[in-house]
Amino acid sequence: MAPDLYSRLMAGSVCGDPFDRHLFACAIAIALETTAEPLTRGLGLSSEDLAALVGRYFPHAPGLLSGLSRTGREDEPLAPEEPDLRALLLEFRTRGLLEEEWLAHVVARRSLGSNHLWQDLGLTGRADLSGLMRRHFLGLAELNHRDMKWKKFFYRELCQREGVVICKSPNCEVCTDAALCFGAEDGPSFLADANLSQTRHCSVPSGLDFANNGVISIG
Ligand code: SF4
Repeated sequence: MAPDLYSRLMAGSVCGDPFDRHLFACAIAIALETTAEPLTRGLGLSSEDLAALVGRYFPHAPGLLSGLSRTGREDEPLAPEEPDLRALLLEFRTRGLLEEEWLAHVVARRSLGSNHLWQDLGLTGRADLSGLMRRHFLGLAELNHRDMKWKKFFYRELCQREGVVICKSPNCEVCTDAALCFGAEDGPSFLADANLSQTRHCSVPSGLDFANNGVISIG
């Protein structure tokens, strides 16, 4: 379902920057695929922000907004570190775009997953995530000049800011955790893994109608 949803999101009339559109389509598809929770919760966005995102990038898919509550608290953090990671990303926004604010929320929320961050963002590979970081959070990406695993890097930055030492060694070259910090972030793309998508609960809101030449609308 997720690859199909991704394709349909990308098939609509082209709106916004193509790479950003790809990033948001991946995140939406995987969030709907992997949780029965509302899309706002899967993405860490308020209803207002999600509506703005859908309006800008996927106006052909208003069904993405169906059934959402409007309590104003949909982006409440789910973990103590989530607001800190959002703030870290926002501090390094490249251009101060609204997209970067949305992505800070999405990346922080999806970082709570148990897989490689690029997988939990529904991306096609780690290169997509590195591209996201260089494009939208350049200053932070440049701090990761040794190409540490992204989630490890984020949490190490946060710990350093708090004066918490998590490193086992003052030098990566002789550290026994080097493989954990710098090892390859290989693995399947969840968005492209048909077997995985078949075993997961699909929570696409009822009312989404795909049977209209690729146009998604409220049924
Ligand atoms: S390899 Fe060791 S020293 Fe280097 S960042 Fe990881 S934990 Fe810290």
